[in-house]
Parts: sequence; C-alpha cells; structure tokens
Amino acid sequence: MAKKPATTEPSPQPAKSTDSVPFCQALANHLTYSVGKDHYTATPRDWFFALAHTTRDQMTARWMETMRRYYEADAKRIYYMSMEFLIGRTLTNSLMNMGHYDECLKMAAEAGLDLEQARAMEPDAALGNGGLGRLAACFLDSMATLGLPSYGYGIRYEYGMFNQRIENGWQVEHPDSWLRYGNPWEFPRPEVLYPVKFYGRLVEYTSEAGSLRHHWVDTEDVMAMAYDTPIPGYGGKSVNNMRLWAAKSSRDFDLKYFNEGNYIKAVEDKNESENLSKVLYPDDTTAMGRELRLKQQYFFVSASLQDMLYRFNKFHKNFDELPDKVAMQLNDTHPSIAIPELMRILLDLNHLDWDRAWDIVTRTFSYTNHTLMPEALETWPVSLLEKTLPRHLQIIYEINHLFLNDVRHQNPGDTELLKRISIIDEDNGRRIRMAHLAIVGSHQVNGVAQIHTELMRQTIFADFDRFYPGKIINITNGITPRRWLNQANPGLAGLITEHIGDGWITHLDQLSKLNKFATDKAFQGKFLRVKQANKESLAKVIEEKLGIKINPASLFDVQIKRMHEYKRQLLNLFHVVTLYNRIRANPGENRVPRTVIFSGKAAPGYARAKLIIKLINDVADIVNHDPVIGDQLKVVYIPNYDVTTAAEIIPAADLSEQISTAGTEASGTGNMKLALNGALTIGTLDGANIEIRDEVGTDNIFIFGLNTAEVAEITSKGYNPWDYYHGNQELRQVLDMIGSGYFSPDEPERFRPVIDSLTAGGDQYLLLADYTDYIACQEKIDALYRNPAEWARKAILNVAGMGKFSSDRTIREYAENIWGVKSVLRPEV
Ligand SMILES: *Cc1c(COP(=O)(O)O)cnc(C)c1O
Repeated sequence: MAKKPATTEPSPQPAKSTDSVPFCQALANHLTYSVGKDHYTATPRDWFFALAHTTRDQMTARWMETMRRYYEADAKRIYYMSMEFLIGRTLTNSLMNMGHYDECLKMAAEAGLDLEQARAMEPDAALGNGGLGRLAACFLDSMATLGLPSYGYGIRYEYGMFNQRIENGWQVEHPDSWLRYGNPWEFPRPEVLYPVKFYGRLVEYTSEAGSLRHHWVDTEDVMAMAYDTPIPGYGGKSVNNMRLWAAKSSRDFDLKYFNEGNYIKAVEDKNESENLSKVLYPDDTTAMGRELRLKQQYFFVSASLQDMLYRFNKFHKNFDELPDKVAMQLNDTHPSIAIPELMRILLDLNHLDWDRAWDIVTRTFSYTNHTLMPEALETWPVSLLEKTLPRHLQIIYEINHLFLNDVRHQNPGDTELLKRISIIDEDNGRRIRMAHLAIVGSHQVNGVAQIHTELMRQTIFADFDRFYPGKIINITNGITPRRWLNQANPGLAGLITEHIGDGWITHLDQLSKLNKFATDKAFQGKFLRVKQANKESLAKVIEEKLGIKINPASLFDVQIKRMHEYKRQLLNLFHVVTLYNRIRANPGENRVPRTVIFSGKAAPGYARAKLIIKLINDVADIVNHDPVIGDQLKVVYIPNYDVTTAAEIIPAADLSEQISTAGTEASGTGNMKLALNGALTIGTLDGANIEIRDEVGTDNIFIFGLNTAEVAEITSKGYNPWDYYHGNQELRQVLDMIGSGYFSPDEPERFRPVIDSLTAGGDQYLLLADYTDYIACQEKIDALYRNPAEWARKAILNVAGMGKFSSDRTIREYAENIWGVKSVLRPEV
C-alpha cells in the first residue's frame, strides 16, 4: 500500500471509540497467544494478524449485541443476495468504523511498529468482478452505518478475481489464493450447514386431501457451510453480518462409497462437490452459460433461503407474515433462481396452495437490473435446468403459464407480445430468460441511474413497463464516503473536516458547505497542495512498481475500470496517439504535460480486450522512450486493478475518463469515486455522469459526444465509420499508424484486426463518431489546467456537489421505496 502523503493537514476522522480496552495490551496478547510470536520474531504479516484479531475482538461484542437487538425487535430483515462482494482490505476500515484508528496509530508510533507494512500484508478480498460487486460492498457499509437489519449472502470463493500481471505487454492471469495464510476476519460456522440438492427426479403423488404433490428424489447433495464476517457501521453502533457459503461434500454421499470400500472414489467425489465454491467466474459483462455457474447460483440461493426461513420460523408460524418480516434483494439476475426455490419450499415442503405461495413470493423479492446489453442478460437452456433442477423448471413453466394467461387476457390476440414477454425464449433453442423471471417474481424492479431506468422502460423491458405500471423504478447508485474519501484520501478528508466539521462522513450532503470555499484563495491553495501530495505519492508507487518515472506536475489523466470495448479505453488511447503526433510534429510548442494512467482487467476469454491491453502497453513503450516526447507525455498501465489499487490511484487523479458510448454504462461508480476526490470528469451523457453533471453544474464537467438519442439516430440511419476516417486527417493518421504496426514493429499486423473492426467492421461503439468532439474537449481541459485557481475552483465544486452519491442515500431509498424497513438503532447510552 502506498504511504499516504505527509501533509500538515489533520488526520482523517475516525469515529470516537466506544470501548475502553487498551488496544496496546490486546495487541500484545494476540501476538503472543493467537499468532505465537514475540516482538523479536514477528514479521509484518504476524503484526497484521495480531492487529486483525485485536480489531475483530472490538467488533465481536457489538456484533452480538446488534444481532440480539434485531432479534428482540423482531425486525424486518433485509437479505442482500449477491454472487459478488468486492470488499478489498478490511483493517483500516474496521479500525476507523469502530473508532480505534487514532489509538492504533499512536500505539504503533510508540512501539516503533510500521503500520503501513503490516497493512500491506492483508490480501485484497476480491470476491467480485467490478462495479456490481463493489456496489454490494458499499451497500453493506451503508446498511450497517444506518442500523438496518441486513445480511449479505453470497459465496465464499476459495479463489477470487484472478491476479493480473502484465508480461511483455500482455495480460496474464494468475490464481488469487487469498485464503493461503488464513482469513482473520471470518468465523467458520461448521454447525450452520445445509444440504443443497441437484439432479435427481420427480415423484408425483396425491395427498389425502386429494391435491397433487411433488417429491424431488434421488438427488446428489452438496452441503453448504456458513462463514460469517462482521461488517461494522461507521461509529460502531451496529455491526452486521455477511454470511458466505462454502461447499462441503455431504457425509451421506461419502459414506456410500466408503461402505463399498472405494476409499479413493469417495475422496475424489468429495473434491468434486467442493469445487462448487472454488472459483469466481471472471466475466463481468457476458453471461457465462456454464453448468457450474448455474450450480453456484442455486447453491448459495438454496442455503440462504434455508437459513433465512430457519430464522423466520423461530418467531413466526405463519408464512403469510413473511413479506412483513423479510425483504430479499436480488443483485442482478444471478440469484433469481430464488424465486422458484421459495415457491418450491412453500408448495412442496409446506403445502401452501399456489396463489397464496405466489403472493408471498412476489411481495418478498425485488430485483436490481445492472445492464441493458444483450450479451450480459442471463438465459439458461431449458435442457440444463431439466437435468440440474427439474422441479424448478416445472415451477418456472407454471409461473410463465399463469403470467402469459394474464398478459393474454389484457392483450387479446397479441401473439407477438406473448413471444416477447414470455419467460421462455422459444427461438434460440428454448432458454429461460432470467430477467423476465426476476421481473415477474418481484414487486419492484430498479435500474441504477435515471437514464438507465428510462432506457429499461423504453427498450428491453417496455412490455413489462406497460403490463406492470410502476413496478420499474430508479434508484441511482452510490459509494460509501467512509472508504472512498475518509480512508482513501486522508489529506482531503482532513482538509474538509477542518473547514466544515466531520458530519459529511455520515451526511455527505454537508459537502455542499464547501461551495463557499471554491473561490477562497487560501482554500484553493490547500486543496491543490493535497492533490499534489497525493500525486507525488502515486508517482513514487509507479516508479517502485513499474520503474517508470512520471512528472508529478503533469496532468494525471485516469481511466480505471474493467477493460471492455463499450468503455472505450481505445478512444482514450487515440487521444494519446494524437498528442504523440502533435508533439512530434511540433516539439517546441508549450504544452500541458500529461500522464495517462490506465488500469483494469479483461475477462480471460475476451481476446479483443486483451489485445487492447497489449496495444496500450505497446504505445506506452514507444511514447515513454521517445526522447522528443520527454516529460510531455507518459502512458502508464498499472497492473491488477482492485479495490486497493483504486484507493491508491483515485486521490491522485486530476481527470476522470468516463467515456462509454451513450446508453451502454448503466451507472458507473468509478465516476463518483473520482469526482468525490476532486478529479474533473470528461465524459459522455451516460449512466450517472448525467446526474453528476446535474449536481456539479454543466460548467464544471466536460461533456462530449453523442447522446443516447443521437446514438439511436445515427445507428438507425446506417452509420458509416469511413466518413469519419476520411473526414479527419489526424484520426486517419492515428488509425493508420496503429493498423500498420507503428507501435508493433516486431509484428506489424498485430493490431490490424482492432482497426479493421472500427472501419470495415462497423465500429459498434462509435469511437470514430465521437473522436473529433473528444479531442476538442481534451483541448479545453488543457487550457483550463493552465489556470490552477480556476481548475481548483471547479474541482472544489465537484467535491461539494457529490453529496447525492453517497450509498447512504441510495440505501435510504431502497429502505423506503422497496424494502419498507426502518433502522433498529441502539438507544443512546
Ligand atoms: C468502483 C470500482 C469498479 C467500478 O468502476 P466503473 O468505472 O464504474 O466501471 C470496478 N472495480 C473496482 C476495483 C472498483 O473499485
């Protein structure tokens, strides 16, 4: 982890400690009794483990108290169901949220302990791909801070997101064995164990009362074992639970083979069932139609529902109360098999009739959509469900049958509508459309930014919006200010607190009090000095890690996110090559020096995205070694983008690149993190960029390019990229250089396919159409950067305008508009 800049600003604001146990003594005890070392032999990792155990102890009592409080209040619980939780490191977060941070700093200083070194030993918990998983992690922080009775439910992957190395310019994936040294934050719960069934067959029988019943028999069972991780809210008042499931082989299953004397076979099969929670699928925008993925989904859904109902049944006998006591949020369609699963539990195991069960189910579930892109919308082959989850398939058929009856009733004769809206896609080899299932089975469906929700209503879910008016609502995403400002950027956090107090940490709206400092010369100076210090420390990290010397006075131009064609890292690179050509054509000209920073992973099977990584690195190689270019332009690819890397880069960014083709980025949250840390945004009118513009003011953001209406128009009219190729000489030069091997002399044809896809291939994401406006916009940014006071003014106004984008606001909207839950806070003591 980067050393934070040594500014004269006060340290960030940890919550006040509520505990009186001397931290120092507790730490010494853990080093001795939990780690088994003393001061002489302890390594930085030993110190990390001792610190983590000490911090966990501080959380545990409050955690137990919180659970009792929810139990005694018989509170309505929120279950946030997510295949991904991108948590990152936990130590600083827990210390700060529990109010022990200052104490710990002081103790470390006195004991001569290198806290940075110890902190850097913590692996980054990367149980997610990107935005969707990070959103879940921000939500856990906000739900705990707000005292909402909530649980995160997911999978304890043994291997999280792969580690990315850049070797010879190419992405190479390495396994992320984050549990290798053990995980000091989790509590294994070997007694919290549920069987999860797969395969088998159905037996129908008639009950004594004469109704048709179903048994699901001869199944292959896997056990789900719980691991609990405490999630502390800021201020330490509430500590919630994240419960992740690990697959264990079932004892019965083993026994069969053991009894046959086939010891090796039994152990082999044990491994096979434990493979279920082995690895996270590293694809963020394409649906992975693999059997193991479906089994992962059902595995964690089944275990979570059993667990939730166990808790419910302790207090309640009547399932009709379920929607008053439980809200289940589906983070994308990944857990949407929960809808037929709860139906199965109510029908087959508890013998409710269909209508009553369906009413309970639809009042319990709600679903968040994260994408409009067709390749990301999950569908499963009917044949796969038939084999793996036969009873669920039957139930889905019945749900669809009754749903289509209703649709038919309201729209007689419209057979095209029935085909479009059906849960079953009959045209592509019969597949289940999981988004349709999730919409039909939920009482509320939300998009993640205004424009995304509007597009949902107008395009992919227009039929549903007509059939269920008011079901589709918007709740714009947010980020937690604790991690993304208070912890990531102590310099800026301290400066803000010095001027407006620390209320912003839990009431981010209060940042608007900074508006009046935007033109204050003294404040501008301090603000710029904090940014400069952050840039210098990032420059140091880059030199240490990559051996590239960058100019800390240059404009830090940052694009950090998953590598994807729709996010248009290539467009950014075209700007880089344009600058390169301009400098070479006119070396003496006085310019704003730039450092263009990229970071992001590509899905391992996404060849085009991986080729673009190679292209960025090949361009970097030429640009960074060209003596004519010198300090005026540098290109840096920071490997292995994760939460830790994000927190290093973001505080140092001057410019935030949010340049997706309009209509493709549902919301984005990286855009929020960067603006909150005082970067100016260059972006398209896409996702939450639009709402950021509305909050910070049109004059304080750099918007360029086609909007969604123009994108729709240009594509419907027949877009011809060649017109743009021939219409702009600089663009043509850039494309020709890349296509003909200027940056890849060792293999001149290497990038030909990339360029061909933009010209002959039709340029799906309209890079050429947006190029000219993008370059012109970048020129305005250069001009502004020459005026530091004016730049500072706009950057301060950006920070001041970010109040809306706290995930606390997002979660309050979910609580009010979807879940119908209230805080259950501890009475003030
Ligand atoms: C915030 C975040 C993302 C999402 O970034 P976008 O720019 O919104 O795509 C992805 N990965 C990590 C590690 C993040 O912290």
